Amino acid sequence: MKIAIVGTGYVGLVQGVVLSEFGMNVLCLDKDKAKIEKLKRGIVPIYEPGLEEVMARNIAANRLRFTTDSQEAFNFADIIFIAVGTPPAEDGSADLSHVRLVAEEIGQSIIGYKIIVNKSTVPVGTGRLVHDIITQQIKNRGVDARIDIVSNPEFLREGKAVQDCFKPDRVVIGCESENAKKIMQDIYNVLFINQTPFVFTNLETAELIKYASNAFLAVKISFINEIALLAEKVGANTQEIAKAMGMDGRISPKFLHCGPGYGGSCFPKDTLALSRIGRDSGEEMLVVEAAIKANHKQKARMISKIINSMNSINGKTIAILGLSFKPETDDMRDAPSIDIIKGLIAAGAKIRAFCPKGMIEARWRLADSAKDIYYARDEYDSADSADAIVLITEWNQFRGLDLIELRKNMQGSFFFDLRNVFSRSREIRQLFNYFAVGQT
Ligand code: NAD
Repeated sequence: MKIAIVGTGYVGLVQGVVLSEFGMNVLCLDKDKAKIEKLKRGIVPIYEPGLEEVMARNIAANRLRFTTDSQEAFNFADIIFIAVGTPPAEDGSADLSHVRLVAEEIGQSIIGYKIIVNKSTVPVGTGRLVHDIITQQIKNRGVDARIDIVSNPEFLREGKAVQDCFKPDRVVIGCESENAKKIMQDIYNVLFINQTPFVFTNLETAELIKYASNAFLAVKISFINEIALLAEKVGANTQEIAKAMGMDGRISPKFLHCGPGYGGSCFPKDTLALSRIGRDSGEEMLVVEAAIKANHKQKARMISKIINSMNSINGKTIAILGLSFKPETDDMRDAPSIDIIKGLIAAGAKIRAFCPKGMIEARWRLADSAKDIYYARDEYDSADSADAIVLITEWNQFRGLDLIELRKNMQGSFFFDLRNVFSRSREIRQLFNYFAVGQT
């Protein structure tokens, strides 16, 4: 089967690589020339564990190729996956300009029958919008071309994207064409025979499943973060609360870790977009909107907790451990570290930051604050002369830190562990003035 993937970001690239591993003939298209040049040379432009190896194998087997030429991609493929970004617009709604543009390009190029699969996270109704844009272009050209539209939302987690695509919890396919349904089943045949659950439904339901899933997880995080704020006030321990809550099969222990608030390329934008879809449909998403509000409050609380605990941070140096929005990714989109660092700088602090993979992106995302941030060589360099350490992202390599070495060249002794990595360590309390989240 010949497949074109439009957009070689975290979703499109991983999907393209995995589908080629499933035996498909895949051509990945991106308008970013530098990215495609790298990919052609076998260089993965993002940090995603395990991706490079599978990609190299499939390039060598000639099942995986890359191009910037949309005509080439759309002529080659029988099935076209759209995996471009849908960032938040000013009003919080999903910005569909990339999706619209791709639909126009498809409509201007194709002949014959093509299946258009939407992998991007898009508001309800976008599948039909893409259908209308493409068919209008086909009509304008007066050619013999026909399409079926499929919504196939993606649920991969950055940092675990390869494993998630090989072993997804479920595959959601929204479409109204029996032929398209059958072809989608053939594409995912490896998963089908491995008993992966498939949900076949209509376009609108598939589109909403994605937002409902992400919003639910965001609500869960905001809920436990709210409990954590209360626990700190009343002397309770949120880790123990979450553990006991999670023992209830109806609740499950996942996504019950309190911390600095959710971030990343999906939860913030998808909760905002769902709230917008609700308002546009005359149905306020009260629970989701509360989760958004609680998330802003959580990040602000982290900043005020640091400032209040240290009395003032004006003129103080603060070491930051972890910048990416979660471990095992270089993605800094909407990372809590951005708001927290900006808040600390606004209160007069200087920053010494270290992250295993996030520093390249952090340099340009935090370019406005460049004069107040030193990017450290490692964790120990970051702590050098610092008054406080703030651990924001729980990279595994931080778990094994030599705490004595870390403390040695510090000026102060504050340690704010926003992920509770060391909350059970006695040593850290002996060496530092230690603060965890959601416990006293
Ligand atoms: P991304 O920004 O990493 O990648 C998008 C890519 O599309 C970029 O490389 C860009 O150059 C390319 N592109 C944009 N317009 C194009 C065009 N007209 N022609 C060719 N290429 C074009 O985005 P992402 O993180 O991969 O997300 C893609 C979609 O998947 C979004 O809707 C997102 O919400 C959704 N999603 C993301 C994740 C995640 O963890 N990142 C998980 C599930 C779903």
